[in-house]
Amino acid sequence: MNRLLIIGPPGAGKGTQAVKIAEALSIPAISTGDIFRKNIKEETELGKEAKSYIDSGNLVPDSVTNNMVRARLSEEDTANGFLLDGYPRNTAQVHELDAILADKGEKVERVLLLVADNDELVARLLNRAAEQGRTDDNEEVIRHRLNVYAEETAPLLELYRERGIVKEIDGLGEIAEVTERLLDALK
Ligand code: AMP
Repeated sequence: MNRLLIIGPPGAGKGTQAVKIAEALSIPAISTGDIFRKNIKEETELGKEAKSYIDSGNLVPDSVTNNMVRARLSEEDTANGFLLDGYPRNTAQVHELDAILADKGEKVERVLLLVADNDELVARLLNRAAEQGRTDDNEEVIRHRLNVYAEETAPLLELYRERGIVKEIDGLGEIAEVTERLLDALK
């Protein structure tokens, strides 16, 4: 099982865990948020297009995001699998991902849903803001991102639940402990 998604609210630890899981499985971890941030830093056209949405905690338009993901998934290192972190983020992106993969005769095999309660998420995000200074990590934007997750992203899980491929994992605890739980969910 090597075509994987990790989904969860901001602050659940997706990015950290995605890197560890991908390493364990020898597949690339693909974070759409990281790709956007890299483009913003390098002041590319894509970065300029995405910046205002990211800074306000809104989703970057699907047209921009979908093209970026299609291009990334056409790269050779994804031939034996991938772990997508941060995509899909709404139901339209679920359908787009299905189409991208169908063109290659592939499909999503498992969705890892990383959960944590809201107070814990806000605390972690504020902490990260202090440490890393992400421009979308002030309290107001954090609360907005949590709302965007609840309203736009959480509903897409139903589509994957219908397929019976969702495993829910508790994101609370030591990083290594959570990684173990995630790897167990792939057995
Ligand atoms: P993340 O690092 O995954 O929390 O993503 C940071 C920000 O990048 C999000 O708040 C969105 O503004 C943007 N972003 C990342 N992935 C997507 C996506 N699949 N669709 C739209 N916007 C995204």
